Amino acid sequence: MSIETLEYDVIGLGFGPANLAIAVALEEDRRVREGGLRYCFLEKKPAFEWHGGMLLEDSRMQISFLKDLATLRNPASRFTFINYLHQKRRLEPFINIGSFNPSRVEYNDYLGWAAGHFAELVHYGEEVIAVETIEEQGEVQRLRVISRYADGRTRTRITRNLVVGIGGMPAIPEAFRPLRDEPRVIHSSQYQERIDSLHGDREQPQRLAVIGSGQSAAEIFSDLTGRFPQAEVSLIMRSQALRPADDSPFVNEIFDPSYTDLIYQQPHAVRQELIRAHAHTNYSVVNLDLIERIYQGLYQQSITGRSTQRLLANRHIHGVEVGAEGIRLNLSDSHRGHNEVREFDGVVLATGYRRDGHTRLLEGVSRYLAAGEVERSYRLPTQAGFAPNIYLQGCCEASHGLSDTLLSVLSVRSQEVVDALLEQGRRPRTAASACA
Ligand SMILES: Cc1cc2nc3c(=O)[nH]c(=O)nc-3n(C[C@H](O)[C@H](O)[C@H](O)COP(=O)(O)OP(=O)(O)OC[C@H]3O[C@@H](n4cnc5c(N)ncnc54)[C@H](O)[C@@H]3O)c2cc1C
Repeated sequence: MSIETLEYDVIGLGFGPANLAIAVALEEDRRVREGGLRYCFLEKKPAFEWHGGMLLEDSRMQISFLKDLATLRNPASRFTFINYLHQKRRLEPFINIGSFNPSRVEYNDYLGWAAGHFAELVHYGEEVIAVETIEEQGEVQRLRVISRYADGRTRTRITRNLVVGIGGMPAIPEAFRPLRDEPRVIHSSQYQERIDSLHGDREQPQRLAVIGSGQSAAEIFSDLTGRFPQAEVSLIMRSQALRPADDSPFVNEIFDPSYTDLIYQQPHAVRQELIRAHAHTNYSVVNLDLIERIYQGLYQQSITGRSTQRLLANRHIHGVEVGAEGIRLNLSDSHRGHNEVREFDGVVLATGYRRDGHTRLLEGVSRYLAAGEVERSYRLPTQAGFAPNIYLQGCCEASHGLSDTLLSVLSVRSQEVVDALLEQGRRPRTAASACA
């Protein structure tokens, strides 16, 4: 049962870095203050955390700290990474380290520090489960946002605009889908929370598999070999080799905020070609240092003759069976042409994320959505008679380019969304009088 109804100008769904950047941009926009805009964010996690399942001790950021929540838009902002360091009295030692790439643990702390400034605007522990239209005289002016607490109670809020920033959902390969409730199979997004229960009753796991060939797969493989030195750890991947992420300077320009315009202006086919040509900056690639460390570890085994780490390349998974003794994978080797069955005490799926969660969440408004792609301002095209604006973040890679799912453009994109909300005659009605 719903316990309260409040009305807002804007509700942000999710409070990860994308909507945190929106909160920063709204906070720093004079027009928002003057207009008395009423907004809030709904986040299903109980507190702010950035990919907590993968906050491994020695993992580092894949981008420069200068691509923080604010610097590229407003270097004088109090929400920059540099100001965070200053506030935490770590600016000088950070400079002494001489790196543009902080650890992920530190970046999570930075984001959490920034999120702490918006504690009153974020409702944690509420999962948005539906968005419905409110029809008045044949038109839709407002939306109903329904969220659910962990104890099953629901709450309803009303809004004139939505900013969707719900990130990705774990992508589970077909063969593993029937094993949703199997405790010995986990997705990388839950790695830290569940790794110690992965091996069931055994005190130490003996045989572990990681599936995937990207950064998370390589990080988990490396972590497992250190965490369980006695265990046999296999990295199973379709590709022939772990490939390095290209973050060289010319290529890196595709993550500049100005590149979004260039991508968006292209015809669909050209865009897809540009995205495909640069996929090796982000997908199925690994930081070169880590590749070298893994290679070194495998080489070391050939000296000592103690072989616990395995890289099973060119492998396709045809079937998965659950037995009392473990998870049995039916594999084929596409180069050698033979099949094999291997059994593991636990399997980690480092198989990435899907970015289509918004379509399910927005089912209740789908009949008002117009054909055509997301606008440059990230607004979903809608039909006549539907006034609310719905902005999407993190699921517009096909139209806005590879930076859309990443952190690189957050500071600039958030301002573009805020401008679109406030300008072009779309200025939402202020809600001082609108509390229900
Ligand atoms: C391990 C890892 C490391 C990464 N490192 C980098 C990096 O170094 N550089 C880089 O540019 N990118 C990196 N990325 C990419 C990543 O997508 C971005 O860093 C960033 O998290 C995107 O922010 P977001 O807010 O769009 O999504 P998310 O961070 O996923 O945040 C979405 C939020 O919405 C919440 N949510 C989801 N559904 C609901 C719902 N129904 N109701 C309420 N709340 C909901 C989630 O709990 C979450 O807090 C990394 C990704 C991973 C997985």
